[in-house]
Amino acid sequence: MRVMKFGGSSLRNAAALREVGRIVDEARQSEPVAVVVSAFAGVTDGLLEAADSALEDYGHTQEVFGGLHSRHLTTIEELIPATTRSRIMADIQVLFNNLEDVLHGVHLVRECSPSTRDLIVSFGERLSARITARWLSSLNLNAEFVDSRPLILTSERQGMTIVNIDESFRRLRKGLKPDSCVPVVTGFIASDAAGITTTLGRNGSDYSATLLGAALGASCVELWTDVDGIFSSDPNLIPSAKVIDHMTFEEAQEMAYFGAQIVHPQALQPAAERGIPVAIRNTFNSTHPGTMIAPNGSLPEQPVRGITTINDVALVNVEGSGMIGLLGVAGRLFSALAAKAVNVIMISQASSEHSICFVTRSCELTSAVEAVKEEFATELESRLIQRVEEVDNLAALSIIGTRMRGTIGLSGRFFGALGAQGVNVVAISQGSSERNISIVVSEQDAAKALRSVHTAFGLDGAGASHAEA
Ligand code: ASP
Ligand code: MG
Repeated sequence: MRVMKFGGSSLRNAAALREVGRIVDEARQSEPVAVVVSAFAGVTDGLLEAADSALEDYGHTQEVFGGLHSRHLTTIEELIPATTRSRIMADIQVLFNNLEDVLHGVHLVRECSPSTRDLIVSFGERLSARITARWLSSLNLNAEFVDSRPLILTSERQGMTIVNIDESFRRLRKGLKPDSCVPVVTGFIASDAAGITTTLGRNGSDYSATLLGAALGASCVELWTDVDGIFSSDPNLIPSAKVIDHMTFEEAQEMAYFGAQIVHPQALQPAAERGIPVAIRNTFNSTHPGTMIAPNGSLPEQPVRGITTINDVALVNVEGSGMIGLLGVAGRLFSALAAKAVNVIMISQASSEHSICFVTRSCELTSAVEAVKEEFATELESRLIQRVEEVDNLAALSIIGTRMRGTIGLSGRFFGALGAQGVNVVAISQGSSERNISIVVSEQDAAKALRSVHTAFGLDGAGASHAEA
């Protein structure tokens, strides 16, 4: 069986849902299918806006609510024949009444806890899955709406929502019967042991899909979106960037960590663990094969598969002769950053131990420097640490590929290409997994650096998409 997940953009209007219907119908001819859906495009954001405004400006909440309501009704009217519309209209109305009650409750008590927010956003997927199921049924696909909340169990650990994998798999296997119908399952939402609605985090529907795929032993998990696949680099920056036809889980995860807006690394984990291929497909160009993420196997020769950049980053350099051989400096440094919720993107320390530098988003720079200065106040005063230097307006650039490991001369090519363009490298970091080398350059140099490296590794034009040839 196959899991097919459709993201919000694939469900943005009736025309998009018609494509979805065609795609599911075709897939169903060859094997059983389970469908997972996100909320319609923009609906999760709308629901959050409604929740936030309910605290102060209920008029605005009502406006947003009205927009969401009519949007769903219009989609139903455009999609489902009038003669068979009454039940879905009634179901949707119940949900909207319920949502209105919750929003009004928030307004009355002027309080919206994280659980209440989760409950409010859950309406997005509960609406879209119901409508999609009704639509697929009208195509004689024998679809059945499934609420994922009783099937995916989460718990709180150190302020994080985690999925209880074993119990969720048990419930999913028991609750879903893709052999006899097409389950249309709400992505993104789950519940805790007390039955309270929880969510798997923004864009969590991909994770729902791979959990389902892993639980049911799917042949493939398809993530349907509105782009052709994962590109060798951001096509907005590099027009010659091409869709990567096959890549490994590690490559996809590295690409996601380093800024490519594709699949959340966590979302790939259940599929990666069980070796279930994950395909990225375009709902609006469904004959395009997309990107297939699969375990290592037929790896292309090309060592570098993708290049990502993250803009608006800053670097902090902590330097001092007193740091040499001083135990616990790194531990204290990163604990202090974590305590201020600063996310570290890159770290580099030379073996002289004279300095440690790390890279964060520019918007976190002030907190980062504060954290360091507070933590090392004594060392700064006694001159064990001489400098906490900050450099803003930088960009991080990473080259990524499973075959980079052990490929000799790769760094030479990388830095050669940069040098030839006169790009100054501010910092370098390579993990010993050798699947990623990251550098930091000034923001002005970022586009030039990206272009020259993309070309140097043969990713332009036919290079990327026919890498296996
Ligand atoms: N609807 C949720 C969001 O927008 C989940 C998803 O789309 O995957 O974050
Ligand atoms: Mg989404």
